[in-house]
Amino acid sequence: MSEISDPMKVLKKAHEISVPYAYLPAQFADPEPILNEIRALVATGDFTLGKAVAEFERTWANFVGARYAIGVNSGTDALRLSLLAAGVGKGDEVITAANTFVATVSAIHDVGARPVFVDVDASFCLDVDLVASAINERTKAIMPIHLTGNVADMDRLLPIAQQNGVLIIEDACQAVGSSRNGKHAGTWGLTGAYSLHPLKFVNIWGDGGVIVTDDPEIDRKLRLLRNHGLADRDTVVLLGCNSRLDSLQAIVARSTLGHAASIIEHRQANAAVYDAGLAGMREVRSPSCDPNVCHTYVTYQILAEDRDDLLAHCRAHGIDVKIHYPIPVYRQQALQQFGYKLGDFPVTDLQARSTLSLPVHQYLTRAQVDHVVATIREYFDA
Ligand SMILES: *Cc1c(COP(=O)(O)O)cnc(C)c1O
Repeated sequence: MSEISDPMKVLKKAHEISVPYAYLPAQFADPEPILNEIRALVATGDFTLGKAVAEFERTWANFVGARYAIGVNSGTDALRLSLLAAGVGKGDEVITAANTFVATVSAIHDVGARPVFVDVDASFCLDVDLVASAINERTKAIMPIHLTGNVADMDRLLPIAQQNGVLIIEDACQAVGSSRNGKHAGTWGLTGAYSLHPLKFVNIWGDGGVIVTDDPEIDRKLRLLRNHGLADRDTVVLLGCNSRLDSLQAIVARSTLGHAASIIEHRQANAAVYDAGLAGMREVRSPSCDPNVCHTYVTYQILAEDRDDLLAHCRAHGIDVKIHYPIPVYRQQALQQFGYKLGDFPVTDLQARSTLSLPVHQYLTRAQVDHVVATIREYFDA
C-alpha cells in the first residue's frame, strides 16, 4: 500500500521525525560565495591547474601539516599515483586491510601489484599485530586505511614497516582532519591519499582527490604523473596521465575545507550523544575509539545484533541508516582471482554482518539524534 492509500501510515509519519542520511543540499544551500569565485575564474580562463589549484594545495598542506599537497582527479587516483611515484608495480605485493572500499584494492591492482589482505580490529582499521607475518620478500608497501574517520595504529605500524624496509602509503580518503597524538592521518607514510567525493565530508561538486607528502622528489614525480609527465609545455620526462584536479573544483574544495573544523566538531558532538545514549546496551556496540585519536566520523558505525531487522525498524521510523559494507571486498566476485575465501578474515566478516551506519552529519538537530537513540533502544526493549 502506498502512503496515499494508507492513511494510518501518513498519520504515523506526521508525528515522527525523519532523519536523512544525505545532507549535500544543506551543505551547499548558499552557493553564492563559491559561484562568485567561479565567475572570477571564468573571466580569467585559467581552467587547468593555475592559481586556484595552487592556492588550494597550499591550504590543504597547511591544514594537515604536510610539506606538499598535490590535487588530482579522485581519491582512487591519489592512491594509484602514490603507488606509481613510489615505484610499486608488477610483481610487488601491497599489504592492506580486508575491510575497505573497493578503490583501495583497484588502485593496487591497477599498477600491477597484488593486494595482500590482513584482518581489521575493533577500530575498523588494520590489525597491526597481523602485519609482520604477512610481510615477505615481495612486499613493497603497506596501505593502511583510516576507515570511518578513525586512524589506524600508526605508532606501532611505522616501526614494523621500517624494520622490514617496506613503504607506507596511507588511504586517508575517509579521514580528512582525523589525527593520532595530534599528527594527521595521511602524514605518517611516504604519501597520504584523500578523497573529495561528495560522500566524504570535505567534498566538492564531483570528483577530486589530494595527495600529501614531505618528500620533494615524490612531490615532483606526482606533479609530473598527474599532467602527462610534462616538465614544460614541450618536454615529456616520464609517461604519466591526465589526473588534474579541476581548477573550479579546487575553488569548491578550498571553500569546504574552510568549514572542516566546524563540520568535524558537529559530527563529534553527534557521535558523543550516540555514545552516551547507546552505552550499557548488551545488543549494541558503539564505535571504539582510542583516546589518542581525533575521530572525525565520516561514518558512525555501530555493531548490532539482529542488524538487518534493526535496519528495517529504523527505516520504518524515518531514519535513513546505511551499511558500510554488506559484502567485504575480499569476497566480491571480481576479487576471486586472489584466492581468499569466507572465514579468512573473521573480524571483517563480523563487521559486515553486524555494522550499521547511523546518520551523523553536521545538519542533524539534537531531536533527530535523540530520535535515533530512542528508536534503537525501543527495538531491543520490545
Ligand atoms: C572513497 C574512498 C576511496 C576513493 O575515493 P574516490 O574519490 O571516490 O576515488 C578510496 N578509499 C576509501 C577507503 C574510500 O572510502
